[in-house]
Amino acid sequence: MSTSSPDLSSLRAAFAGRLLTDPADTAPFLTDWRKRWTGRARAVAQPDTTEDVASVVRWCAQHRVPVVPQGGNTGMVGGSVPDDSGRALVLSLARMKRIRAVDPINNTLTADAGCILTEVQQAAQQADRLFPLSLAAEGSCTIGGNLATNAGGVGVLRFGNARDLCLGVEVVTADGQVWNGLRGLRKDNTGYDLRDLFIGSEGTLGVITAATLKLYPQPAARMTALAAVASPHAALRLLELAQRRLAATLTGFEMMSRLCGELVARHVPSAAVPLAAANPYCVLLESSDPHSEANAAQTFERLLEEAFEAGIITDAAVAASIAQSRAFWALRENIPLAQATEGDNIKHDISVPISAIGDFVERTNAMLEQTFPGIRMVVFGHLGDGNLHYNVNAPEGAGGARFMADEPAINAIVYDAVAQAGGSISAEHGLGQLKVAENQHYKSAIELSLMARLKATFDPLGIMNPGKVMPVT
Ligand SMILES: Cc1cc2nc3c(=O)[nH]c(=O)nc-3n(C[C@H](O)[C@H](O)[C@H](O)COP(=O)(O)OP(=O)(O)OC[C@H]3O[C@@H](n4cnc5c(N)ncnc54)[C@H](O)[C@@H]3O)c2cc1C
Repeated sequence: MSTSSPDLSSLRAAFAGRLLTDPADTAPFLTDWRKRWTGRARAVAQPDTTEDVASVVRWCAQHRVPVVPQGGNTGMVGGSVPDDSGRALVLSLARMKRIRAVDPINNTLTADAGCILTEVQQAAQQADRLFPLSLAAEGSCTIGGNLATNAGGVGVLRFGNARDLCLGVEVVTADGQVWNGLRGLRKDNTGYDLRDLFIGSEGTLGVITAATLKLYPQPAARMTALAAVASPHAALRLLELAQRRLAATLTGFEMMSRLCGELVARHVPSAAVPLAAANPYCVLLESSDPHSEANAAQTFERLLEEAFEAGIITDAAVAASIAQSRAFWALRENIPLAQATEGDNIKHDISVPISAIGDFVERTNAMLEQTFPGIRMVVFGHLGDGNLHYNVNAPEGAGGARFMADEPAINAIVYDAVAQAGGSISAEHGLGQLKVAENQHYKSAIELSLMARLKATFDPLGIMNPGKVMPVT
């Protein structure tokens, strides 16, 4: 790739006021949400339209300038920020915010990639529909970023991840052409599924500029509860019972360990719930009933009574109001912030077969505690999807550089255990720049070879988000 500095004047003229080069203006685009990676860039381009995106990418291809697509910059793995060479151009989709169409009969919504997730949810609600993708960053992350990372979140158990909620995409390819694949079709078997290649590709194959998304009916009522359990094994028994009793109305099943509740109480007291800090584990359950509030309440309370009588749960609190339900969710959503405020931490966004989670947590906890005395496990996540944020914090009062120096050894213990259980080292956050090397270690040679060939086909110049997902060759 060229190291000379191409002249930005043609881009500057085309992007009057929307091509940022002043360090004070570009700084927010160069550091990720975790503040773990800070890069440098020639400029930040802020397109308004798909044709703007295409013209930027064509310019980058012509001058061999790396393109780093960016949405809300809430990613967890450093995918949305450039490296420190200063050669890349950050392409921020944040100004592309049009809801292009809502079709309540086809149950679809088409939106520009820069729409914030909550804006998409609200547009669906205005049409009396539900767009069920939901995650704690939903007030800042964009639909383009959600698709580029194949985001998961708290509704996957019932509605699937971002991929399952997307029927079509519009993409600017690495040579600056526009592919309009905005099809609102549930059935379309016309060859290789290009949409599914761009989804989850983290900006390394092309730029998603718009998407056609699936909508669902709004539920008539929601019920939320926190239930205390003794262990992840007990949480799995509760999951099995809840799936039997609530079937498709079970829409949320999140587990958290005691330290999660304690850290929220310490650092975000407004979101604390005593039950979560007083029990080894607790589960946040949600049901969404299509019929009525009375029906929802009756089924939900029966389930909890049965779980209590069977000795699966030891305590429970059912939200009596929407405010209380929000309070339970606020507890869950504030864990990442509380963990970050507590200090140095190492995150593992892993998945294993649901049935293997209990043994995985017990064994891996024991191995880490033995090897790193005092290490603190902050375990939470989407148990119903087999996906845990199996995070660790430094021992109380310790931390800093010494703890972070152990990161490779800690990761090896966790990821070896994940591999042994037949799991994935990245369930929903992607690989970004954080897990490129580990992916090369744990994936099979044939998978890596096919991925490398796809990358070379879609991006022969290697300008699309280099160093993310795949190593630079
Ligand atoms: C508090 C918190 C909670 C979170 N909870 C969850 C969770 O429950 N589940 C989950 O999956 N994630 C979660 N995340 C991670 C993050 O929010 C998601 O990965 C989200 O989908 C990223 O969207 P974004 O718009 O911020 O993308 P960015 O961070 O800007 O980018 C992420 C990646 O996508 C690429 N990209 C962005 N936009 C485009 C585009 N239009 N075309 C092509 N490539 C693009 C970037 O290059 C980068 O590789 C959480 C993050 C935070 C801060």
